[in-house]
Parts: sequence; structure tokens; C-alpha cells
Amino acid sequence: MSKIRTRVAPSPTGDPHVGTAYIALFNRVFAKSQGGEFILRIEDTDRARSTPESEKAILDSLKWLGLTWDEGPDCGGEHGPYRQSERGDIYKKYADQLVDEGKAFHCFCTTERLDAMRREQRLNSQPPGYDGRCKGLSKEEVAERLAAGEESVIRLDVPREGVCEVPDMLRDPIAIEWKQVDYQVLLKSDGMPAYHLANVVDDHLMGITHVIRGEEWISSTPKHILLYQHFGWEAPTFFHLPLLRNADKSKLSKRKNPTSITFYEKMGILPEALLNYLGMMGWTMPNGDEKFSLTEMTDNFDINRVSLGGPVFDVEKLNWLNGRYIREDMSTDQFVQALKDWAFNEEYINKFMPLVQERVERLSDVAPLAAFFFAGMPNIKAEDFAHNKIDEETLQKLLQFGLWKLETQRHWNKPAIMADVKAVGEHLGLKLKDALFPFFVAITGEPRSVSVLEAMDYLGPDMTRARLRHALEVVGTPSKKQLKRLEKEFAEIGTFMD
Ligand code: GLU
Repeated sequence: MSKIRTRVAPSPTGDPHVGTAYIALFNRVFAKSQGGEFILRIEDTDRARSTPESEKAILDSLKWLGLTWDEGPDCGGEHGPYRQSERGDIYKKYADQLVDEGKAFHCFCTTERLDAMRREQRLNSQPPGYDGRCKGLSKEEVAERLAAGEESVIRLDVPREGVCEVPDMLRDPIAIEWKQVDYQVLLKSDGMPAYHLANVVDDHLMGITHVIRGEEWISSTPKHILLYQHFGWEAPTFFHLPLLRNADKSKLSKRKNPTSITFYEKMGILPEALLNYLGMMGWTMPNGDEKFSLTEMTDNFDINRVSLGGPVFDVEKLNWLNGRYIREDMSTDQFVQALKDWAFNEEYINKFMPLVQERVERLSDVAPLAAFFFAGMPNIKAEDFAHNKIDEETLQKLLQFGLWKLETQRHWNKPAIMADVKAVGEHLGLKLKDALFPFFVAITGEPRSVSVLEAMDYLGPDMTRARLRHALEVVGTPSKKQLKRLEKEFAEIGTFMD
């Protein structure tokens, strides 16, 4: 049997998600438990949403957790490049091959036509999906229109009848009717592949034997199976892991739970503890131990022991496990070292000490003033936000709009953060000084402190956003109905440019 090869294939479009680490962990453990190899591939074909900062954060976070890989964009390997944006020519060749063989077709439909089609489908309560208009075009017409320079995408031809049985090693085969499967775009008009084509081509060319991914991909698997058949390639073995869930069993989302790995790092969760906790999601050690290392998990791993009940990502339980690592496994020296690695180091302290130095009389004033730089959520109450220029509604808007602005802020520095807060303040008719007040309380826990804009810069996006979310919870998170209204109003806020 060929060597077992697994991969994790994140899209670098945001903060490094705990779900990515969870999938990476199971892929790595499965491969290593059988002497196989684990690969990291970056799926950055969505050029508008992919960023190098996000890619770096994902790689750094996985390394911080100890989830190292044998081949990847940073360390190379025999099957590179490992970044899909650098493999464009490969995909085009395969898409053209499918067209030549009549297994895919050029589609010239304009965005306007597709929008109109979707509107009509919605009106008639039909499932959304391409209606297949360009499927019937003759070879000659296609050649003519291409020669005339008309824009087109390449779509996969999909049977309209019958059922696809998706094999899954953790479940009975899952039957999905072909008519539910869209004529998927394989190659976009700019020549970039869509996820499905790139994913299948790469898994094949990179020799991936087992695809272990989240169950949200089950509905895509028929397209993948079809592509393997069309190319005449053997499909890998699929395992769809249960999704991580919030306490209310909904899909883990940052509205209900922080999802960024760097947030947990900033909260002082140890990498071993987070990894151990992710290992407990849907899997148990044969001896029932809850505390286990990556090596112990690898030595005892049996993928058939994965349970499919939606594992709940419970922050309280993670904290409890982390506490066990701190108390049971660390000498005082190791504990002090962990604190230094975490935040008690010159690099971090030197960032904000100039702000603190300006405001103290005695050295003993430093710790109380700077404590929030080393803390999680501040201890605040709704009354702390009382201000004579800011009524309850305005307060909620300031925090919610500020949070939304900062959630999409890609440049995390003082001027960018200031521009966001200013824009929200202007919109609400407030002076910057007043608009900043609730941010002081939310971020530093006090109505006055060192510059809150600089503090947000140094605390970083994860911790800042988490404290703003926490503040919103304290003053009252908007209801669903209010949220709808707020979203509309938020769309009117421009970007403040100095
Ligand atoms: N790029 C996909 C993701 O972000 C990969 C899905 C898969 O593993 O096939 O999750």
C-alpha cells in the first residue's frame, strides 16, 4: 500500500480558526500513527479575500501548537508549490481537458443574467443553481465566441438524474441526489480555479490518500467524486469529522465563542492544553484519560473511535484543563518561563511602557495602571458606561459599530483604529473624546487610562474585539430585530479619512 499522506488545506481569509487546528490535529495524528506524512497546503484561490497576513498567522498558530508538517509553502517538498495561487497553469490544463472530453462546458452567461435567474428561482421557491443554458452550445459557437474574446467560465457537467453515494469511513454511505448538485464553476473567467477543481487536482497530484475534513464539506463531495471519475483517478478515502459547536449546539461561531487561536494564546492558554482539548473533541483515549499529549494521542489513535455527536467547544472546560497543565506539569521555573514567553517579556512590555511612564509618580503605580495589558476580560458593570453625552442606545451603537468596523480592519495600527472609531463617532454626532469613552471602559476597565487607541494596537485585534464583545454583553447585546436595524444603519457609515 502506498504511504499514507494527509493534509490540512486552510484558506487564508481571516484569523487562524480553532477549527483549522482541530482538523490539522486529526490529520497529523492519523498520518503519524501509521508512519505517514502530513502536508500543509494553502488554498488561496479567492484572491479578494486571501491575505499574506492571514496565511502567516495560520502557519504561526499551527506551529505554536506543535502541529508541524512535512511539506508546505514554508518548507517546500517534492509536490510543490503548496500555495494554490502559484499553481494556476496546472488547473487550467485540467479544466481544458475536461472541456475537450465533453465533461465540462464553457458558460458565457453574464452576472446580470445569473442574478435574474437566481431572483426568479427564489420567487418560484426553486433551489438555487445554474440552469444549464450554455450546456447546449455547439462546439462551433463556443469556438467563435471565445475567438471573439467573450468572457467565459468553465462549469462541470453534472448528471441530472440518479444518486451519488458518498463513501465516508465514519458513516454509512451518504446518498445525495445529483439534481441537488450544481453545475459547479471549475475555472473562473480570470483563469483562477474554483475551490473544487483545485482541491481535487492537488489532492491527486500531492498523493493524498486520506481526506479528513469537516462535515460541512459532505455536500461538496459528489462533485469531487465526479471529478476523480472524469480524470480516471482513484479517489482518496474520505472522513468527515463532526463540526465544533457552541454550547447551544449551533456551529462554532465567533458571535458566541472566540474562535481565533491567537485569542486563546493571548488569554494565556498553553499550546499543549489547547491541543489536548481539541483532541477531546469527538475522540477519547482508550483508557478514558482526559489529559493526554500529542504523542500519547498519536500512539493510541484509532480513527474509528471518533464519535459523531457534535462536540461542544466549552471554554470553561478548556480553562479547567489548562489549569491542570499549570498545576500538575510545571515546576516554578517552567511556570515563570511560560509567563515570560506569554507576555512578561521586553518586546511586549517595551511597547506600552512609554505610555505608562508618562502617567505615574511611583514605580508602585505601574502594576495597577498596566494590569489590563496582562489580563483577559476586565471586570466591568453596565453602570461603568454611564456618560452624560451617551444614552443607552448610542452606547450600544458605539460598541457594536466599533466592533464591526474593527472586525474588518486589516491594518491593525493606531491610525487605522482611530479612523474606525472616528467614523463611528462622527456618524453618531459625537466628539472623538466622548466617542472614545466606552472604549476606555471596555478595553482598560477604567474611564481614564493610557491612550486607549494605542492600547488596542498593542493588545492586538483578537483581544480588542473580544473585550468589545464582552462590553456589549455587559451593556446588553442587541436583539435579532435590533441587529437588523443596526446592520442597515452601519452600512451608511463611511470610512473616516484624515
Ligand atoms: N480550503 C478548504 C477549507 O478552508 C479545504 C477543505 C478541504 O479540506 O477539502 O476548509
